[in-house]
Amino acid sequence: MKKRVVIAGFGDTGLLVAINLGKDFEIVGISPKPCLVSGQELGMRLTQPQAWKKDYLMPFSRYKHLHGVRTLQGLITAIDPNERTATVQLQDGSKQVEHYDALVISSGVTNGFWRNNALESVASINRQTDRASQKLLQAQSIAIIGGGATGASVAGNLAERYREKSVHFFFSEQQPLPGYHPKVRNSVERHLLSAGVNLYPNHRAVIPDGFQCDRFTTEPIAFSGGQDRFTADITLWAVGKMSPNNDFIPSDMLNDTGFVKADAFLRVDGYENVFTVGDIAASDRHRSSARNWGYRLLGHNIRAYLSTKNIRMKRYESPPYRWGSVFGVQNDGLRVFQPQGSSFRFPRWTIHTLLFPLAVRKMIYKGIYKA
Ligand SMILES: Cc1cc2nc3c(=O)[nH]c(=O)nc-3n(C[C@H](O)[C@H](O)[C@H](O)COP(=O)(O)OP(=O)(O)OC[C@H]3O[C@@H](n4cnc5c(N)ncnc54)[C@H](O)[C@@H]3O)c2cc1C
Repeated sequence: MKKRVVIAGFGDTGLLVAINLGKDFEIVGISPKPCLVSGQELGMRLTQPQAWKKDYLMPFSRYKHLHGVRTLQGLITAIDPNERTATVQLQDGSKQVEHYDALVISSGVTNGFWRNNALESVASINRQTDRASQKLLQAQSIAIIGGGATGASVAGNLAERYREKSVHFFFSEQQPLPGYHPKVRNSVERHLLSAGVNLYPNHRAVIPDGFQCDRFTTEPIAFSGGQDRFTADITLWAVGKMSPNNDFIPSDMLNDTGFVKADAFLRVDGYENVFTVGDIAASDRHRSSARNWGYRLLGHNIRAYLSTKNIRMKRYESPPYRWGSVFGVQNDGLRVFQPQGSSFRFPRWTIHTLLFPLAVRKMIYKGIYKA
């Protein structure tokens, strides 16, 4: 009988773990969403929602390597490591218990209005995506708070595509993108300025009491450094106020900040058959296993654990600086920033001839059926 792997959270990384596990296991992927709702490229999602949906909102049935994987729409409410079970609350409110031989915790984080663990239909995901984009694009002056990749992506995409709008980007350090190489920070700052974004370094916005940063606001923004208040038609909060989706995870698996304790093999400390990856996994100081092929490593390590052959597990390695695309596809193509501070650009003509069809769809996702 095939060994059973349950994947708790079937988002960007959980889905890729399933794709990398291969056909030798019975795999169950559990998600409150009926399809992949990627956490990537908020700038593109808000400024070009139809284009974003083509690559980042995808029915599970389109992935060739998910053939044979059972997906279950529901919210995991408990894990019992002794019984090796996950209890799932389904959409109709009933409960279902799933047994596992190996468990992957990849439940991500809740962040702003764009990433959450709400049980939703495809229609509702589409509606929310379109509504958020329309709200933002109706505004003439837009404030974006928070200097991470999400804030920079939205500011850059808005300014590039909508030259008539005034885009104001507030962040608490001297430059955007903390955690990235200094050369990348310089390069992103230059790009934002040349796109016409108004930059406000050293501006730490005061988060109103009780506000979860999960919706746009229109009230004046105050700053803890005493700078003048600022009022825009609409304000997007991308301050990294994220909370790990950990309600169902036993407390001894979590560190002091609520993320899952991961060892060098992306296994949960103290549990030989529980693994973790993605934004929930405390794998390194940037929690960057979503970006550093953690899903590929888990495909190997879970196989090693469940196999009767003597296969050695691989260790997870992460670079000292964050890396990746910040702005997504632009008029001149897609730039990927490297951990060492350099960057390379896929020219525009390669995006739909080489990058997405070959590098992304064939190499990363191992094949996607046509819509
Ligand atoms: C191939 C790839 C390329 C990337 N490139 C970049 C890049 O260029 N630049 C960049 O900045 N970032 C990049 N990233 C990183 C990315 O932005 C995020 O880090 C990534 O989306 C996090 O994935 P995740 O699986 O941890 O979380 P998510 O994709 O959010 O998935 C978590 C899932 O778990 C579900 N869930 C939550 N609670 C429960 C529960 N109780 N029961 C069941 N399900 C639950 C959630 O609803 C969600 O569906 C990349 C990631 C990947 C995989």
